[in-house]
Amino acid sequence: MARGFLGRCPHCGEGRIFGRYLKVRPECAHCGLQMHHHRADDLPPYVVIFVVAHIVGYLILELEMGYDVPLWFQLTFWPLATLGMALALLQPVKGAVVGLQYALGMHGFATLPSAGSEGPEESRFGPADERDPDARAGLRRA
Ligand SMILES: [Zn+2]
Repeated sequence: MARGFLGRCPHCGEGRIFGRYLKVRPECAHCGLQMHHHRADDLPPYVVIFVVAHIVGYLILELEMGYDVPLWFQLTFWPLATLGMALALLQPVKGAVVGLQYALGMHGFATLPSAGSEGPEESRFGPADERDPDARAGLRRA
């Protein structure tokens, strides 16, 4: 999620997730991880609204209660601040949501790019009968 928040591929951390502002690249140019099947959908805007509304709402109340601020300032500053914060947070939050889907193996992220350019894709979790929850969670010591 941190790699995604910074706009980097959740698998390798090198390639970029976004081709344009909110357009996720079909695959990572560095490691070849397929990203076209992500389903961020409406979660990033929900998260951004949740975060920005709490910050701006608190600051508006704090300013209104503690200071004598002219109405024109309130009506000018807060919409612009809200817009700026929302636009600034939307891409990182969408990247983090794609990273979350990758971390959970959702929506096609269960397969990784193969080491070579040929051959079948490697499953992240192995065949069903070889799965070991402790090893997968990194709990087993070598
Ligand atoms: Zn990558």
